[in-house]
Amino acid sequence: KPSYDAIVVGAGSMGMSAGYELASRGLHTLLIDAFDPPHNQGSHHGEPRLIRHAYHGGAAYVSLALRADERWLELERMTGEKLLERSGVLNMSDPAIYSYDVRLHDALTHSVVIERLDAGEIRERWPGVQLADGYEGLYEPNAGYLYSEKCVAAYRRAALEAGAVLLTNTFVTDIVPDAGGVTVHTKQGSFTAGKVLISAGAWFKSLKPFVSLPIRPIRKVVGWFETEGTGFDAGKFPGFTLGTRDGGYYGFPSIDGKGLKIGRHDTGVEWQPGEELAPFGFYPEDEGDLRRVLSSVMPGAAGRLLSGAVCKYEMTPDEDFIIDTHPVHRNVLLAGGFSGHGFKFASVVGEIAADLLERGVTRHDIGLFSLSRFASVYQG
Ligand code: FAD
Repeated sequence: KPSYDAIVVGAGSMGMSAGYELASRGLHTLLIDAFDPPHNQGSHHGEPRLIRHAYHGGAAYVSLALRADERWLELERMTGEKLLERSGVLNMSDPAIYSYDVRLHDALTHSVVIERLDAGEIRERWPGVQLADGYEGLYEPNAGYLYSEKCVAAYRRAALEAGAVLLTNTFVTDIVPDAGGVTVHTKQGSFTAGKVLISAGAWFKSLKPFVSLPIRPIRKVVGWFETEGTGFDAGKFPGFTLGTRDGGYYGFPSIDGKGLKIGRHDTGVEWQPGEELAPFGFYPEDEGDLRRVLSSVMPGAAGRLLSGAVCKYEMTPDEDFIIDTHPVHRNVLLAGGFSGHGFKFASVVGEIAADLLERGVTRHDIGLFSLSRFASVYQG
């Protein structure tokens, strides 16, 4: 008989939440991580992360974002930690790049509070933003940001309290299903379970050939810039996204004087698990891209670079997630490819993963995340 009901391989954003969920439902659960989460080797460090409910990509994302929000509040209540700040999120875009029509429709259908603004209205409301005429905006007052590292730490405590076992600094080297269950091999020994969740983030490739997904890990950078005055401070300035002809950006107000944080969503170089990640500033565009867009749209936030961080995206070809059973081994669930926008969903992904591992079904609409969409390219 296997030693555990479930093993979670990769206890980061998704895995730690799933571990809590599984243990709280009474499943004897083992969490294994190559590092000591939260840590800076995956995709969850350099907090915060945006949480928006008005979403592109279909109405299913809106329902999931709303459910995720409820679950973050539950985690706050359970742990007594402040994890989510409702700063509001201002989305701005050149309509030649992106139109908000569908997003607005999907949001309103789900009763998300949302305002459509033109460039003049945005400049008036947030004088630090010098947006060119013609840009469009959507402002979501109940959106905001999550302290991602605190969230992972909170789920870690909650999982352990619920009875989960956590092995840190333990690299999983192979996974072998047999008639009795699944054996997970690590450099420190082997463990067996009835079911396994693999939530290995940017490191999925390290589990080839057992699992081979169309996920490209990408090096990403974020910078914190000194701001003038107090207009960009948390409490006054919202989180934001900005779609320009010169790339897509997102950012956060200056929290505790740390500077306005900004990152670029598109571009970035591919990274291979095990490779050294080039530090912030290695490429001139690390700072250059961020400074250029700040100088033109938020010049008061284009001050000194106060700090920089390097993190990883794990991109699927269509930027939708992968949440599905292994195509051959039905007692192995895969959750990956969160494509630079997954953190906000970690709380509901844990619930979905636990549903699927425990009962094989979930009430959440996860049709978009099925592996069958890659049928023509997926090699098995
Ligand atoms: P991780 O949190 O990295 O967890 C994977 C875990 O698996 C790691 O702990 C790793 O150590 C472990 N692991 C991997 N392989 C093995 C192995 N072989 N053995 C043992 N353990 C293993 N999302 C948003 O919603 N809003 C945002 O504003 C946002 N901004 C972002 C900005 C940046 C710069 C980055 C990098 C990401 C951003 N994201 C955002 C995306 C979000 O952070 C990720 O989608 C999310 O963290 C992915 O979670 P994960 O569990 O897949 O990966």
